[in-house]
Amino acid sequence: MSSIGFVGLGIMGGPMAGHLVKAGHDVTGYDHSDAAVERLTAAGGIAGTNAVETVRGKDIVITMLPQDEHVESVFADVLEHAAPGTLYIDFSTITPRTSEWTATEGAKKGLRVLDAPVSGGEPGAVNGTLSIMVGGAREDFDSAREVFEAVGKTIALVGPNGAGQVVKAANQLVVGGTYALVAEAILLMENLGANAEAGLDVLAGGLAGSKILELKRKSMLERSFQPGFRIDLHHKDMGIILAAARQAEVAIPIGALTAQLIAAARAMGHGSLDHSALLLVTEALSGKGQA
Ligand code: NAD
Repeated sequence: MSSIGFVGLGIMGGPMAGHLVKAGHDVTGYDHSDAAVERLTAAGGIAGTNAVETVRGKDIVITMLPQDEHVESVFADVLEHAAPGTLYIDFSTITPRTSEWTATEGAKKGLRVLDAPVSGGEPGAVNGTLSIMVGGAREDFDSAREVFEAVGKTIALVGPNGAGQVVKAANQLVVGGTYALVAEAILLMENLGANAEAGLDVLAGGLAGSKILELKRKSMLERSFQPGFRIDLHHKDMGIILAAARQAEVAIPIGALTAQLIAAARAMGHGSLDHSALLLVTEALSGKGQA
């Protein structure tokens, strides 16, 4: 069993840290939110007083933070205060470039660094069934298995440092684009006299079928957009995707269009709704609905 310092105990990090406690690890957690730290101590974890104390002297340091700048800031403390040999796992969704930077700078201090973004949302975090896409060295991946298996089900090493973020970007590209097309399909059916509910059932069972149609068709038809995964976070992810495409010198026109639709959803005030609320943008473009 390991001593673990965990920074970022939000929607995802909170339950993930709880699973590590349950697996028998000594988990010290820190978050700007006192309530988040209290939830971890109630689950048997230890309260960290600040990021420095949380990352100092641990076998493993974990971050689960919103964006690049948060990871950069906490990683500066890791660089300064974690001992050589410490395994650093970042579960956040950030740019591949920042993950590569943590690996390069970490290696200079003898740290072992993995980027390990996740998919599966809050239910995946709560149930310990996340999919985890990992970038880094095979031996570091192998020594992180006890952590990954405590929080996830589908766990894959997908390449060198940064590759986990690249795969996560690909995931968010497909998810965003699929929502946009499902929204258009709903509008088409609803406005040409077809039974959209029966129609979506057929789509879900055929070649057009997807996890999104399986899980979200009912709530989209009902215009129920409780998050889930917020438009604001998907907007951040579309920025990561476009930057990655530029870095790779790859054109992603459908991705660029999807990014604009998600930006529009945000501009229309839907940032805190679930990303399936892209339907509201599609409706507004045709003068339908109430968005
Ligand atoms: P969240 O906002 O609920 O949690 C982030 C936490 O980090 C907050 O509690 C905040 O107080 C804390 N924090 C920020 N900066 C800090 C700092 N410097 N020191 C200490 N604490 C700090 O976000 P989340 O939904 O848990 O998402 C975290 C990451 O996981 C994001 O990159 C997101 O894109 C990704 N992700 C989220 C989901 C989802 O469904 N929510 C799914 C997959 C991936």
